[in-house]
Amino acid sequence: MDTTVTLSTGSDLSEALERYWGYTSFRPLQREAMDAILHGRDSVVVLPTGGGKSLCFQAPALVRSGLAVVVSPLISLMKDQVDTLTGNGVPAACYNSSLAADEKASVAAGLREGRYRLIYVSPERLVGEGGDGFVAMLSQCDVSFVAVDEAHCISQWGHDFRPEYRQLGRLRALLPSISLHAYTATATARVRRDIVSQLGLTDPIELVGSFDRPNLVYRVLARANLKRQLLDVLSRHERQAGIIYCTSRREVDALAAWLRESGVRALPYHAGLADDQRSRNQDAFLEEDADVVVATVAFGMGIDRSDVRFVVHAGAPRSVEHYQQESGRAGRDGLEAECLLLYSTADFMKWRVMLERNGELSDASRKLLRDMERYAASVGCRHKHLVGYFGEAYRRADCSACDYCLDELETVGEPTVLARKILSCVARVGQRFGVAHVSNILCGSDNEQVTGRGHQELTTFGLLQDMPVAEVRGYIEQLIAHGFLRQTDDQFPVVTLTAPGVELLKDASGALDLVLARQRRPVKDRLPKRSRIEAESWQDVDRDLFERLRALRLAIARSRGVPPYVIFHDTTLREMARLKPRSVGELHQVRGVGAKKAETLGERFVEEICRSSPGAP
Ligand code: ADP
Repeated sequence: MDTTVTLSTGSDLSEALERYWGYTSFRPLQREAMDAILHGRDSVVVLPTGGGKSLCFQAPALVRSGLAVVVSPLISLMKDQVDTLTGNGVPAACYNSSLAADEKASVAAGLREGRYRLIYVSPERLVGEGGDGFVAMLSQCDVSFVAVDEAHCISQWGHDFRPEYRQLGRLRALLPSISLHAYTATATARVRRDIVSQLGLTDPIELVGSFDRPNLVYRVLARANLKRQLLDVLSRHERQAGIIYCTSRREVDALAAWLRESGVRALPYHAGLADDQRSRNQDAFLEEDADVVVATVAFGMGIDRSDVRFVVHAGAPRSVEHYQQESGRAGRDGLEAECLLLYSTADFMKWRVMLERNGELSDASRKLLRDMERYAASVGCRHKHLVGYFGEAYRRADCSACDYCLDELETVGEPTVLARKILSCVARVGQRFGVAHVSNILCGSDNEQVTGRGHQELTTFGLLQDMPVAEVRGYIEQLIAHGFLRQTDDQFPVVTLTAPGVELLKDASGALDLVLARQRRPVKDRLPKRSRIEAESWQDVDRDLFERLRALRLAIARSRGVPPYVIFHDTTLREMARLKPRSVGELHQVRGVGAKKAETLGERFVEEICRSSPGAP
């Protein structure tokens, strides 16, 4: 137990929040997480991306005396956080392999003189071989606590295991009297348990937040004409930041090139690019020199850009965990963002083949895939589905932020009639053909495959001739997801009837609750609706002014050599463009403007506001 805390901590925390960050309230569980530190009790804090984990240890570092040590896995993450902190007037530094000898010496001197409140280090620097010097240095300092960021990296059950995190198990022995605090966005209980045991936490308080991300609008579409579908999304997000995830490097390269030809500032990112090219592309995205990154899943951690307004998956990922992780990179600033999954059942076949080839196809991985498939083909509230998957109850009746709740999914009037037409066609061809062939017969397309087998003579030929083939394919995929049809796992998968499918063919009453979603018409005809969050966050915002403030932020960021979101977040700029403060004093009212920023940047922003809207009230 730490006995040095005698301050009335509650108000001190609020004061620090207001003064350094310009925030007037705590996000859920932030207070509790901060209290754990102030009371010197070990803790594990699980909050979703964008939940405000950093503040949980940064604010107490200012309230407690001494030095807070933060373990962080990536140099780029450390640098961003330190830049943000110093921009807010918090004395902080990082100590890692990217520092030149003289920089290291200067940080070491700063530590000796007690100049910093927070020091960011990599795990290997802290406890790895050759890190002993650093621990020795720390033992000269008055260390107040250790925060382990991205703590799931310690677990093999996590999605981002890093062997060097394992060495953190030594921390307890090295710094026995100091409390340890772990932070992660990974929700599973197994990872949490692993963190506790690997770090050797003592009776830790565990704080697990809600994993719902109400500001994200989830949509799922059958992949049809990918390029058209992408252009539709991009047209909703002009000049905004986005990530497009693809399942192969080749597709990444092709799409990135095509987008550039189409005038989009897009860059590719995958493990096949040379290291320097990859980090250049990542930096360009972070520094707003590029709007869109087309990437494989190699693009992930360290993407701290908070204003990512859309994440598109051009193919299904291999698990809901992956989907949650990747789509979760959208909207970290809490403002509206769109997560679109474009998928086809073929994606899951590809995954199975690939996992099999790598010897990773197990019952577990098959189940993860099936769960992902179910998410894609399901018709219902997507927020509810996602949080339910992670074991959380969803209390709202209507999220107002998914294709289902926004009423963008049209359902089929008589789903059982449609389902039986499809099932009977599958039966007619002897359950020996794939999705494409069955759809062609149903649509009455007399191509060679069909006529070559005499399938134009079947009674089911042309039964759905007024529908496009892609639409029929979509229904077949939904019936697979609903368990009435099954797709085999071989190289040329065929569609067969399941027992419920056979039942449904015999007796329609077996599927009274079947819902099928109509495959949507192009978005041009049916403009997606705006989510409630989106409508609210733009309320009374002068959009032109917002764009000009963005430009100003970019110019300042360039001149300082930091990414723009280190200067101000979009939330703050929107509030400026809403409240239009006309003096530095008034600027203090804006959330996200702390004392230091008001002092160093206030004039320029106020000037821009006054110039842009002279005479406004
Ligand atoms: P995480 O690490 O959990 O993904 P961050 O720490 O990056 O989240 O916080 C996400 C965003 O929310 C940041 O822009 C941060 O400044 C902001 N934020 C955190 N706490 C608060 C708060 N209490 N009030 C307003 N904004 C906050």
